[in-house]
Amino acid sequence: MTFRKLHLELQSVESLLRQGGGFAMNSRLCTDCGRRLPATAKKCHPCYCSTLQDEYCTSQTRIAEYFAVLSKCELWPSLGPFQKSTVLELVE
Ligand SMILES: [Zn+2]
Repeated sequence: MTFRKLHLELQSVESLLRQGGGFAMNSRLCTDCGRRLPATAKKCHPCYCSTLQDEYCTSQTRIAEYFAVLSKCELWPSLGPFQKSTVLELVE
C-alpha cells in the first residue's frame, strides 16, 4: 500500500462515519470527568460525580472519536506522520 493510498484510506473513513443515524449506547458519561461508564452505573467512582448522562452515538460523536484515536496514535494532523514515517509504521 502506498503512502497516498493509506492517506486516502484514513481520510475516507470520515465520510463513512457520517452515514447512518444516531442510537443509544449501552453506556453513560460522567458529566464531570467525561469517563464512559456502564449503563447501570449510578456514580462515577474516580471523581464521585453522580450526574451521569446516557450516551448516544451520532455521526458527530463517531467522527470526534475517530479523530481522537488518530490523534492519540499521532496520525492526526496527518501531514507530519506521512512525511516522516515508513508505510509499515503507519499501517501499525
Ligand atoms: Zn467522573
